[in-house]
Amino acid sequence: MITFDNVGKRYPDGTVAVDGLSLEVPTGTLTVFVGPSGCGKTTSLRMINRMVEPSSGRVLVGGRDVRDEDPRILRRGIGYVIQHAGLFPHRTVIDNVATVPRLLGASRKEARATAMDVLTRVGLGKELAQRYPAQLSGGQQQRVGVARALAADPPILLMDEPFSAVDPVVRKDLQDELLRLQSVLAKTIVLVTHDIDEAIKLGDRVAVLRPGGVLAQYATPEELLTS
Ligand code: ADP
Ligand code: ADP
Repeated sequence: MITFDNVGKRYPDGTVAVDGLSLEVPTGTLTVFVGPSGCGKTTSLRMINRMVEPSSGRVLVGGRDVRDEDPRILRRGIGYVIQHAGLFPHRTVIDNVATVPRLLGASRKEARATAMDVLTRVGLGKELAQRYPAQLSGGQQQRVGVARALAADPPILLMDEPFSAVDPVVRKDLQDELLRLQSVLAKTIVLVTHDIDEAIKLGDRVAVLRPGGVLAQYATPEELLTS
């Protein structure tokens, strides 16, 4: 479970990005933060893995204040997927993914086996695994980004506009695949998007944020559609 307990974030220049955010993300569910650009979605997400520190309130992961955790250890349990996959251009797809288990102590052989396993889960086969990122389509690169986040088998996945940079047809495929994966993996996922349709399609719960990072509503998609 992830808990935001009356969380605020004011950046050093005085910008209030998040104000009084309280909500709970139950284990094994997918919560979406949705709202217009600049409303504090990314800031809220990054407070979960300590990329951003709250100015007030607390963020708890598994009941523990994240400030009491070593960020490196905290992040081993928290995968992070961003809009552009951020792959290493000079490494093949499989090596991009195998880097993660290698860093966690796996042998070269184990790491490649894990990498191939997660690549298969996101729909990428042996042939694509040998390519370099520039030889993949945008949608395929984004799949590699998801595979890399899954390679450490983290219980929590943070996804920041993961599908915004790909065209609408590919986006629909990736959304469908995330739902399929999630029905098997049941990770605790927090996904940020500015697209309300995506939020309603993907979320078990949807947190609607207003400018200034004020929570307007935290509801199931069904509740949102009928309110
Ligand atoms: P969103 O993800 O909803 O687009 P952000 O969390 O990125 O929103 O930003 C929320 C607000 O905080 C915006 O006004 C943004 O300009 C501001 N902001 C984000 N990062 C910083 C920063 N490092 N320093 C100052 N202001 C920032
Ligand atoms: P998508 O619909 O997934 O975005 P594209 O239409 O961009 O895919 O690409 C279709 C096919 O062409 C894919 O199988 C992809 O692997 C291949 N492809 C795309 N760009 C390149 C490239 N620069 N080099 C080699 N193959 C490519």
